[in-house]
Amino acid sequence: MPLQFYNTLTRKKEEFKELEKGKVKFYFCGPTVYNHVHIGNLRAYIFADLLRRYLKYKGYKITHVMNITDIEDKIIKTAQKLKKPLKEFTSFYEQAFLDDFKTLNIEIPEIMPRATEHIPEMINIIKNLEKNKLTYKSQDGSTYFPIIKFKKYGELAKLDPSHLKKNAEGRMKADEYEKDDARDFALWKSYDKEDGDVFWETPYGKGRPGWHIECSAMSTKYLGESFDIHGGGVDLIFPHHTNEIAQSEGATKKKFVNYWLHNAHLIVNGEKMSKSKGNFFTLRDLLNKEYHPMAIRYELLATHYRAQLDFREDNLKKLIEVLEKFQEFFIVLDEIIKKKSKKQPNHVVDHLIRDAKTAFETALDDDLNISEALAAVFSFMHSVHKIKDDLSSFDAEKIKAEMENFDSVLGVMQFKRESLEKDIKEKINLREAARKKKDFKTADKIRDDLKVQGIILEDTPEGVRWKRQL
Ligand code: AMP
Ligand code: ZN
Repeated sequence: MPLQFYNTLTRKKEEFKELEKGKVKFYFCGPTVYNHVHIGNLRAYIFADLLRRYLKYKGYKITHVMNITDIEDKIIKTAQKLKKPLKEFTSFYEQAFLDDFKTLNIEIPEIMPRATEHIPEMINIIKNLEKNKLTYKSQDGSTYFPIIKFKKYGELAKLDPSHLKKNAEGRMKADEYEKDDARDFALWKSYDKEDGDVFWETPYGKGRPGWHIECSAMSTKYLGESFDIHGGGVDLIFPHHTNEIAQSEGATKKKFVNYWLHNAHLIVNGEKMSKSKGNFFTLRDLLNKEYHPMAIRYELLATHYRAQLDFREDNLKKLIEVLEKFQEFFIVLDEIIKKKSKKQPNHVVDHLIRDAKTAFETALDDDLNISEALAAVFSFMHSVHKIKDDLSSFDAEKIKAEMENFDSVLGVMQFKRESLEKDIKEKINLREAARKKKDFKTADKIRDDLKVQGIILEDTPEGVRWKRQL
């Protein structure tokens, strides 16, 4: 079966065909940096991470762009309230966001452009829209997009125009009444004295960009006028992505994006986690309760991206056991490798690897079916366990390499092994330092402590080696 994704544009699973052979151009809407993102937002970024990691696993060269929205009403208001310069304020939350990525082992996208650094690109799109008669000025000098003139408007969201009108009216704020049509959206917002020192002088007046134009400008700059995949949470289908399509296609007259992928929400107690509802917690909140970051990653990863994820804190404790299974498995493999046994390669291993790989890939090819992919890995581990006494070092190396291959997509297996090894190495170094100082009492105590943990030290001419007690 070929690689398939569910495309929101057609509401169907479709075979993935890239525009340029072997390359994938992928845009995922990034954060608005005015506070810490919540665990629901992080679900969206874990989904983007799974997608990019799997595309890389399949051999594609990926260019993944994720914008940083560092200009927006809430940002301006909060920075002013705190009397902080905009840049200082947004940089802090941008860094915090990247720290969250690191903690959750989320790969950093190739390009992370900031909206404030792409004003000329946004103006360029507005100029092209103007040429195509797809702009108008409102009384206050803001520039709007007249959606009535864009025939395909609302195609992504499958909106029926009458319903759309009602929807938009519901959301209208008092200061938006001067639009021709309630459904129109701002490309460029004219300066308001509440914006303080936040403005740009442009051919469309003094002011700041509308939100949607940012993503059209940054995606086009780095990925081209047409690219492969655009993603985000389902709440972005309308109006954000709908408006991005209208602006981009209105300006270029080319198809903007081939595949639109959207993750379902993370919910708590039956409701979408969101800042406005106040029912949210951040990664920091969970880490303060001493949950392991990899258990959090696992929880966010293990539900299919198009299914709602009912986030349950009590699950995180149970997940540690799952993660320890990975760790134990690697320890067993390492022991077999270290023994350098003379056993012949076991031909069953090749079959097990081949079957596991097929099951893993078949699952993920099918619109990233993560639960079946995880099941394939566990079933592989189970089968290997049954024959572990008949494995040669060569077999164990092959199995380990395959597990690492799976983990290049999952990113949940390696953490504890590394920290464990680091911990042992630190203790060995401390013991060495003590021995140099002829403090044998301390040196022996460190060795005995390690022994209690099941770690045996061997003094060899090449230095100290450690192994796990069998
Ligand atoms: P925002 O900061 O609201 O623009 O959201 C950033 C990203 O997180 C977007 O892709 C949203 O669709 C996504 N998102 C927001 N809330 C949730 C949630 N509760 N579950 C999953 N994704 C979410
Ligand atoms: Zn966006």
